[in-house]
Amino acid sequence: MSKKWYPVINYENCIECGACVEKCKNGVYEQNTTKPNAINPDGCIDGCRGCQNLCPAEAIDYVGDNGEQKTVNCGCSCN
Ligand code: SF4
Ligand code: SF4
Repeated sequence: MSKKWYPVINYENCIECGACVEKCKNGVYEQNTTKPNAINPDGCIDGCRGCQNLCPAEAIDYVGDNGEQKTVNCGCSCN
């Protein structure tokens, strides 16, 4: 089954602050860089908006996002 929820970065808006990379503890983003690269979308927790909530540039959208707000425990301590 293909993954239904994972982050997509709008690089035109992204200021490469690294907040999303630093905060996600589920291994979605490549580490040790400030440029977000979602190398492991399978690690993303369905409905989590942890990195989107932190992004100062509104540069993160999700595949599968229909606007629904879920309460999820992603383990990132970033919601
Ligand atoms: S912080 Fe949450 S939404 Fe962002 S990549 Fe990690 S698990 Fe997915
Ligand atoms: S938090 Fe937003 S602006 Fe910062 S690196 Fe991630 S996508 Fe880019």
